[in-house]
Amino acid sequence: LPFVFQKAAEVISIIEKHQYEAYFVGGCVRDYIIDRPIHDVDIATSATPAEIQEIFPKVIPVGLEHGTVIVKHHQESFEVTTYRTDGTYTDHRRPDKVHFVRNIKEDLKRRDFTMNAIAMNVKGEIVDPFEGRKDISQKRIQTVGEAADRFEEDALRIIRALRFSSQLGFSIEEATKEAMGKYKALINKLAVERLTVELEKLCAGIFYTKAVDYIFELELYHYLPIFKDVPLLLKQIEPVSSLAPVFAFVELKSSSITAADCVKAYKCSNQLKQQANILVDAYHRYKQCGIDAWFVYLLPEEQWDFFVYLVKQTDKEIINIQELRNIQKRLSISSKKELCLNGHDLMQWFPERTKGKWIKELLDEIEYQIVTSKLANEKSKIKDWIQWNQPDQD
Ligand code: ATP
Ligand code: MG
Repeated sequence: LPFVFQKAAEVISIIEKHQYEAYFVGGCVRDYIIDRPIHDVDIATSATPAEIQEIFPKVIPVGLEHGTVIVKHHQESFEVTTYRTDGTYTDHRRPDKVHFVRNIKEDLKRRDFTMNAIAMNVKGEIVDPFEGRKDISQKRIQTVGEAADRFEEDALRIIRALRFSSQLGFSIEEATKEAMGKYKALINKLAVERLTVELEKLCAGIFYTKAVDYIFELELYHYLPIFKDVPLLLKQIEPVSSLAPVFAFVELKSSSITAADCVKAYKCSNQLKQQANILVDAYHRYKQCGIDAWFVYLLPEEQWDFFVYLVKQTDKEIINIQELRNIQKRLSISSKKELCLNGHDLMQWFPERTKGKWIKELLDEIEYQIVTSKLANEKSKIKDWIQWNQPDQD
């Protein structure tokens, strides 16, 4: 077994010692068979959450209603889910009630695609009742059971089929594809947060264009917030690991949609909104002044790759990261915190002035002067500079 499975294998063996079954399931087994990197290992078990809690001293009940707990074992966390069936989905959003079952095949049956419905035990033995391995070898995405039923039950699977095709480069089997087209309108009923998770993965897939071809073939863009108004932008996006540059791109390319609109439509975090806005601002600053010290100072290093991406997508221009790095090396300060003075110093220097927004404005100006090398980051120099440039305003 590969290294990533080994710690989890101990958890499975402990469960087995207590006379229950446990298997690796889902994405980790699929990726192991494909020989792709495995990022998280999920365990399915015949034991109920209460039974798991009796076996392990540290169990966090994260989703008891779905039968999911986190087992802590040697400092590491493992998601352990009781075999279950999902019952009916009357609202097309989530199952009304899940039922725990004792048979792995019952559990595999509720899973979306055959490639995701394979279980493997610690000996490497495989349970594959829906011939997922065959579909994997043929690079084919196919639902478990009747495609129409499965998409009507949960339309998120339509988007998941696309994101797997984007990540894996697999083709969607004909009947599965046809059913996706038939039930596409149900996408509108999904809780948008679920859609967002899949959209982010879809946009990051290295076979993204394959997914986009399906989106156009089936006219699925009508059901994607924002993109329904600017579908062609989907074709202009290249794979990227965050929605921030995608939303920034939408703002730059469309006349009326802002990144903030996208964030709102997909209910993303404030952090993502900030990141997208930083990218948009950086783009405009770059277009106005090029890449200078002030530009590099304002753009957080974590966003450099996304900025390069954004400029490439928007204008087909290639930014040299090395240029950013060289400028960064020569910056006199890398953040406000490194300024050698603060608001208190200013108030002491000008005791006659009353507290007010002049403090922040003056600090901002000093920061700009220092970053652009017009002023040294030394108190005496700054004091002189203020006396020459900012005569008493009172
Ligand atoms: P990734 O590697 O991106 O995590 P994954 O296959 O593990 O891919 P998850 O979203 O983590 O995907 O889901 C874990 C497993 O749960 C899937 O492999 C699948 O068996 C099952 N699953 C997830 N979502 C659904 C769904 N909407 N309907 C049916 N089964 C699902
Ligand atoms: Mg997973």
